[in-house]
Amino acid sequence: MRNSETQSRNRQLRAYFPLFDSQNATEERGFSYIPENSTRFLRDVFPILITLAAPVQISEIFESIQGEGPWAETRSLFVRTSGCNLRCWFCDTPYTSWQPDGTSWTLGQLCLRIEQSTAPDVVITGGEPMLVEQVVPLTEFCHSIGKRITIETAGTIDRPVISDLMAISPKLRNSVPTDAVWTSRHDRTRHQPDVIHEFLRRYNSILKFVVDSAADLQEIETYLLEFPESRPDQVWLMPQARTREQLAEKVDWVRQAAEQHGFQFSSRLHIERFGNRRGT
Ligand code: SF4
Repeated sequence: MRNSETQSRNRQLRAYFPLFDSQNATEERGFSYIPENSTRFLRDVFPILITLAAPVQISEIFESIQGEGPWAETRSLFVRTSGCNLRCWFCDTPYTSWQPDGTSWTLGQLCLRIEQSTAPDVVITGGEPMLVEQVVPLTEFCHSIGKRITIETAGTIDRPVISDLMAISPKLRNSVPTDAVWTSRHDRTRHQPDVIHEFLRRYNSILKFVVDSAADLQEIETYLLEFPESRPDQVWLMPQARTREQLAEKVDWVRQAAEQHGFQFSSRLHIERFGNRRGT
């Protein structure tokens, strides 16, 4: 193994294998220090080892520009996990939700891929990336090598990740599908106010609403009454669109609606520039 590869491997181990740290450093990271007896080992350490060893289903990893929100245009490495606990009818990544696909990656492989990227930002997206336990050590690794981290989530699951921007896209009534299995399951799961309150308290967060019709504005106003701690400049309106044509139809009136309400507007630059294509 070359010297640089050895250094890289050691850095990864230090980042996501805290059992090798000193006791203080380990506890500062929120992990348990390696215990002295085997009972505690099984209770405290074994679950961590299982988490670290378990493969992660990844739908795609690619470099592109961030197409949405406050850091639009930033060159980013996108890590898209496969699997979602929701089934929006308009899902623009059905290969992570309705028909999930992907390949298995170990944390070590993911860390190497991230370290090889020269993009300053890492966007961990899905599907729902917060479904994945390993997202916590993955964000710790990204942070340890100086990447700026965005988590794109629907805000239904909380984990103690490190994130520079929590891009929460709450799912409104307009997302509910017509489906024998998923209509009620989706509707029951999509609104988790405790998680949203926690994210707003702990992270630099935005609330990014997918707007399909003018009627959605009323629901967004009602939704925000439940989160008085959110500021208007944290609220982003983004057109529901999976193609350039759909986007073009909605851009102007959604932008105007955002201005009228004192909210931010986000287009979807990746759709504008590349159309509805994977890996962009
Ligand atoms: S939450 Fe996102 S990934 Fe999941 S179904 Fe809805 S749009 Fe698709």
